[in-house]
Amino acid sequence: MQPTQHFSLLTRLPTVTITAPSSALLPVSNTLAAQPNAGYKVKVRLRKRCQHCFYVRRRGRWFIECKEKGRHKQMQ
Ligand SMILES: [Zn+2]
Repeated sequence: MQPTQHFSLLTRLPTVTITAPSSALLPVSNTLAAQPNAGYKVKVRLRKRCQHCFYVRRRGRWFIECKEKGRHKQMQ
């Protein structure tokens, strides 16, 4: 019975080494998503989605802010 236990330990080891690099890649994708404009949807044409949305001009770009729903925020 003991040899089978050793085998299960050996088979688990490769899976651990495989999951380690993929988790190490996650911070890289997080830094890519953590841009200054995070939270804004990038649109070619901005569109107000409710009556609380309003246009804001910043750094030569038009943004849409929304006081009611933050997910309405868009940028060009
Ligand atoms: Zn809105």
